[in-house]
This record gives sequence, structure tokens and C-alpha cells, in this order.
Amino acid sequence: MSSLLIKNVFHNGETTDVFIKNKIFCRIEPGLDPSLADQVIDGTDKAIIPPFYNGHTHSPMTLLRGYADDIPLFEWLNDYIWPMEKVMTAEDIYNGSRLALYEMIRSGTIFFNDMYWQQDQTIRAVEEMGLKAAIGVTFMDGLGKKYIEANFDYLDAHLRPETLPEGITLTVAPHAIYTVSEALLRRCAAYAAEHNLVFHIHLSETKQEVEDCVKAHGMTPVRWLEQIGALEPQVVAAHVIHVDEEELAILASRDVTLVHNPVSNMKLCSGVFHFQKAQEAGCRYILGTDGCSSNNNLDMREEMKVAALVAKSRYKDLELLPASTVFKMATKWGAECFGLNSGKIAVGKAADALLLDLNNERMIPCYNLISNCVYSADNSVIDTVICNGRLLMENHKVPGGAEIVALAKESSIKMLERLKKG
Ligand SMILES: [Zn+2]
Repeated sequence: MSSLLIKNVFHNGETTDVFIKNKIFCRIEPGLDPSLADQVIDGTDKAIIPPFYNGHTHSPMTLLRGYADDIPLFEWLNDYIWPMEKVMTAEDIYNGSRLALYEMIRSGTIFFNDMYWQQDQTIRAVEEMGLKAAIGVTFMDGLGKKYIEANFDYLDAHLRPETLPEGITLTVAPHAIYTVSEALLRRCAAYAAEHNLVFHIHLSETKQEVEDCVKAHGMTPVRWLEQIGALEPQVVAAHVIHVDEEELAILASRDVTLVHNPVSNMKLCSGVFHFQKAQEAGCRYILGTDGCSSNNNLDMREEMKVAALVAKSRYKDLELLPASTVFKMATKWGAECFGLNSGKIAVGKAADALLLDLNNERMIPCYNLISNCVYSADNSVIDTVICNGRLLMENHKVPGGAEIVALAKESSIKMLERLKKG
């Protein structure tokens, strides 16, 4: 295993050296000998910070970016997204995943919690490009019995970590309560609980979802999921907008992680996440971008800024969701939620890091690094991306980027042709 030494880098208010070996931060102290390492990076005028951990996305949907914007959720799904997804081949999913990972690397993300189809293609892309991911095995009744059984077989076959590439775990991912039946939700929850897997679901995203649930079951989605045992496993729930205080208390008592997706929530007019109430209820919350057809990018840095601004403006409280908290949502808390020993630059942690260019105009002056990172920066400040001690981007360059872009373009053109042919 190669080792890496970052010399004279800005960390926690001082200049120091960071030595990475066997994929972890081994030593963080000034004056380390360059001969220690196989590779040395000059960290002068750069700051080292944790990278981002995206709590909820649909990576191959990069290929649907901009295809159907400004349309209500159910019409958007029925008339645009689902027909287009029907013509996507395995190769398209692979190309779309690679485009997503390329975009993630360039915007400082090294981990994502995904929910999509043909997960093998996304896993292949993650393995090749060196990131980490929690990959959803996604369930929807509409896909048919055969598909559902194949998904459970897939999960059965990959219960041991050695059956998956390093850095990848699987989650049980029923899409939502309006696409997954009670029987299947119960089965997914029991499976996730039995095998200690994350149960990843969209929850209480729209008013209509809540109204339909009340009509069908006489109670709201959170209460209903609790009643059918679907809050028993470790649950990661995306959106969670239309919930009352009692539901937030249920979610807190069940240790459910809420994924806040502020850009998607605003763009689809789904509603506004009750940040203050979730905080008061003692809920866990992290940050996610959602997919590229409802965001339309995978930029966690942009998501941090929007999350902070939405919380402040909604509650007219400028102390709410400060930069330091939203930064933790995007880094440390995201990593912790998925059991990763990372999200912090510290000895013994997995060597995941970003090097930021402190001479970039958006970082000057640098009275507060995290404030600059949340409120001022754009992706041009990210110089280097490291995941498990491996350099994914150095001096703004990701190997193979041009080919990834060309293949994704080609896929999008072919998909449109297939759709037109019917
Ligand atoms: Zn989503």
C-alpha cells in the first residue's frame, strides 16, 4: 500500500503535515520527514478538510438532468421520468453513474447513499473510480414479482462484505409508501432488521403522499410505518417534510436519520423541512442532494448553503443552522450515519479529505474557513480530493474525465432516440 505525505497544510488553525498510510491518517504533526512517504504533496496555501457524504441521491439520473423541469411531482414521474427510465440500458446506467461520480469528485463528495435500478452498474462505476457508497437495492411493486425476488436473491448473495468491492455496502431501499405495498414494506423492513442493513426510503415528501396514506390507512406515513414495523431497522428517510411534532418525536425515538434535501424540496415545491422542530425533537439529520432530475446537480457544497439559508429565512432566525452545523451534516454526521470511520481529519480515521486552495479569490480573507466553505466557495476552490488515501483528483484534474463526459453524452442522445421510436 502506498503512503502519502501532505506537507505544510492548514489544519485546525495551524500549519502542519499529514501522513497517510494503509488508507488512514497515521500522523498529523509538523516537521515530518518527506522520506517517510512514497508520494509527497505540497500543502502550502491549502487547507485540509473532510470531504462530503451525500445522504440521498439517485446517481444514474445525471442522464435525466434538465430533461423535465418545472413540472409537478406525480406528473413529472408518470409522464417524463418513468418513460425515460424504461429506455435506459445497463450501459446507460453505468455511463450515468460514472458521470455522477465524476461530478461528485469535482465537487468534493467521496460517498453517496444511492437508490436506483441495476445497482451492479453503479457498483462497477464506484469500484473503478475509487469512491465509497451505500447502494440501494430498490423495490417497487410495479416492477413485478420476478424483479422483487431477484432483488432479495441479490441481497442474499451479498450479505458478506467480501462479496462486494471495498467501500460498498448495500441498503434495502423500498422507493416510497405510494409505490411499495404494505406486504413488501413489511418484508423489506424485516429483511433489513434481520441482516442489519440500512432501510432507505422517501418519506412524507409531498402533501398528497400524506393525504393518500391517511385515506388508505387512517393515519399518516410515519405512524403507519411504525405500526407495520418499518421503523424497526436502521432507517434513513429522505425529505420528511410533511410531519407533525409527534411524528418527529417517533422518528427521534426510533433513531431514524432524516435526510434534508433543500434544493429538491424547493424545486419540486414539495414543502420546507421543519429544521427547527426536528432539532427540538432530537432527530438525527444529514444532508443530501437527491437526484439530478430534481436538483439539478450533486453539489453538496451548494446544498449546505441552501440548507442554511432556507432554515434561517423560514424561521426568521439567523442563528439557526450555522455554517459549522450544516458542515457537520454534510461531513461527519453523514459518515457516522453509514458506519464509516471517517468524516473528520484525525489520526486513526479513514484518510478521506479535500485540499482547498486558500489563494482562490473566494477564500480571501480567511477569517473563518468553514464559513468561507459554506457561504462563499464554489467548486474552483477544491484542488485535491482524497478517498481512503487514494488521490481521486489532484490539481483539479480527474483522470479519464473527458471520456466519461463523452460516453454520458452519447447515452443521453441514444436514450432520446429510443424514446421517440417508442
Ligand atoms: Zn430521491
